[in-house]
Amino acid sequence: MSGSLDIVQLEVGLLENFCEVIGCPVTGEAALVDPAFEVDRLLREASSRNWKITTILLTHTHDDHIAGLDEAAAATAAVVRCHPVEVETARRQAPRVQAVTDGEWIPLGQGRVQAIHTPGHTPGCVCWFAPDPGAVITGDVLFVGSCGGVGYPDSDPHAMVDSLQRKLAVLPESTVVYPGHNYGRTPTSRLAWELANNPAFLRDTVASFCAWKGTPVPGSANS
Ligand SMILES: [Zn+2]
Ligand SMILES: [Zn+2]
Repeated sequence: MSGSLDIVQLEVGLLENFCEVIGCPVTGEAALVDPAFEVDRLLREASSRNWKITTILLTHTHDDHIAGLDEAAAATAAVVRCHPVEVETARRQAPRVQAVTDGEWIPLGQGRVQAIHTPGHTPGCVCWFAPDPGAVITGDVLFVGSCGGVGYPDSDPHAMVDSLQRKLAVLPESTVVYPGHNYGRTPTSRLAWELANNPAFLRDTVASFCAWKGTPVPGSANS
């Protein structure tokens, strides 16, 4: 049996970024997700609950998700966890970085979160799934009503469609989606709503997905 985790969502910075503070209400062990901006606010949020940050979880290493990583790592001495292909970038800011494997469970007090590798926006994107209370932190892979860009040099629309359809759409429909940016009609949503309304899920072929995103289909004649 694992215990439930509390999740606090904070909007920080000028790009409508969301960071999360996740904690075990029993032991006080806690994690920061994507400490980008206003790190002092994130740390105050944790200490107001008597939580101790032991882990920093990264969805990916675009600057708007790790701009405050150096400050957060120095203040907490927490271990940073991210996908292997993003480790090098994270190590420029934090001394203790450990790669995660797809499907790996990270204990957090009496609770746990699972790393779900969801490449596409970047090759090392990870969504963090907490089965109890039923939440997934999606970074730039999934927004409320939309999704992150696939036009970056290391983006891959094929991988993105695969990640959405095969890795995220299969989670319990009651899962609450915590996106990386406040770009939607609500700060969070249910996966069931996204599956029924979000073009990122409804455009389930690479061609239709790319047409919606305005991105050339990789490998096509005119890309
Ligand atoms: Zn990004
Ligand atoms: Zn972003």
